[in-house]
Amino acid sequence: MTTFYHSTRSRNESLTSKQAILEGIAPDGGLFVRDDVAEGAPSLESLLAGTYQDRACLVLGHLLDDFTAEEISGCVDAAYGPNFDSPAVTPVVPCGDDWTLELWHGPTSAFKDIALQMLPQLMRVSREGDGRGVMIVTATSGDTGKAALEGFADVAGTGVTVFYPHGKVSDVQRLQMATQRGKNVAVCAIEGNFDDAQTQVKRIFADVALRERLAEKNVVLSSANSINVGRLVPQVTYYFDAYAQLVAAGKLKSGDAIDFCVPTGNFGDVLAGYYAKLMGLPVRKLIVASNANDVLTDFITTGTYDRRRPFHKTISPSMDILVSSNLERLLFYLSDGDCELVSSLMKNLAEQGFYTVPEHVLERLHETFECGRADDTATRETIRDTWERHGVILDPHTAVARHVLEARPADGVARVCLSTASPYKFSADVLAALGHDTTDMDGFECMDALFEVTGAKVPEALSALRDAQERFSDVVSVPEMSGYVEDAATRILA
Ligand SMILES: *Cc1c(COP(=O)(O)O)cnc(C)c1O
Repeated sequence: MTTFYHSTRSRNESLTSKQAILEGIAPDGGLFVRDDVAEGAPSLESLLAGTYQDRACLVLGHLLDDFTAEEISGCVDAAYGPNFDSPAVTPVVPCGDDWTLELWHGPTSAFKDIALQMLPQLMRVSREGDGRGVMIVTATSGDTGKAALEGFADVAGTGVTVFYPHGKVSDVQRLQMATQRGKNVAVCAIEGNFDDAQTQVKRIFADVALRERLAEKNVVLSSANSINVGRLVPQVTYYFDAYAQLVAAGKLKSGDAIDFCVPTGNFGDVLAGYYAKLMGLPVRKLIVASNANDVLTDFITTGTYDRRRPFHKTISPSMDILVSSNLERLLFYLSDGDCELVSSLMKNLAEQGFYTVPEHVLERLHETFECGRADDTATRETIRDTWERHGVILDPHTAVARHVLEARPADGVARVCLSTASPYKFSADVLAALGHDTTDMDGFECMDALFEVTGAKVPEALSALRDAQERFSDVVSVPEMSGYVEDAATRILA
């Protein structure tokens, strides 16, 4: 029996997961959810057997149940193969008495690969028979754009256009995008900052005349952002997989409790952990770790979400967020699917910049969620301390979570810290945290120096960038972005 998805804000419309993946966001601004995540879920025993890929098939088969088993296994094979540089896909490694779940062994060395290697496959299958091409348009401050490019490169029936702010991404990030392979990709710098790019992309999506012209060429525009069901669901797998690895290594018995500490921005990663818990993984606590942008720490502590606060630029930029979009899904589940409540809270947020959840929702929240924060100073100290005491080198995002985890007393329950990026993606900040002077060093010099100091393996894709051929050097003004998309769509898809 197919389970349907609907908006967090109403039950007026029911969609299959394929439709939800293609639509991305509900017409009323809500996020797509299904009511009962637990019903019909595979048993824990079945999820602990087999490989990462087997678990992915079970998790996706359950949560996206209008896909056939053949479709799912085709997607899983394409998403999680030799493009990951670890046969375990997401290996668990020790860190002192705790564990680290490394989510960055994919092609762009960051955890977004787990979802963005899969989403294009799910979209490819979802649009089959539709005949139209899907053009993904994304603005990026650095990392997400590259992960989207790598995921969509040469996926049939899709194209991807990425805009980044000229001169405002690191040299390594720029090279990662400028050297992107694939016949269906377009990369373009814009004269402006990330917000300018983001705002203009929103205008492009809202441009009815443009959409009509593209429709005549059989092209639809779509986004790949982290509220898409097709990005959330693949992330559930690694929570089961981490648990399975610890059981296989004799560190846990099936049924033992486990805690996860998650460095959080848009709340997608940690929400996937909640889905795993709802599906039967014996998760005790999910610990939400924030940097100086600690809107979630305050929310989990008090029940009031208040975005009216200064925005901080930190050394963990992927967590520099004031509105955590995926939190809306958690509110839906914590309120037992009260769409009216979710709708009114989101209205408050949009109109007044804050909301407060009712007491019964806060109590439910506290049954599972805890929180903590680390500012840049604490983050740097943690990078240095973890290296000196445990010989493990962490990127700044992971270090935020490690700091929050270590502030809590251990009580015998296994603790896993999610590691979301390779330290080599942030070589300069990591090197500086270890006490080295990085003045006048470029990205590759910092990478080399970090290798000299730690001996940790540099991801091949990052070191290969030095010799890679640059393919894209376009720079356009903000008003020219729309024409650039239309041209790219015609070139790539029509
Ligand atoms: C995106 C990202 C995060 C935050 O993940 P969310 O799902 O948005 O909470 C953390 N670390 C890194 C390196 C990221 O790229």
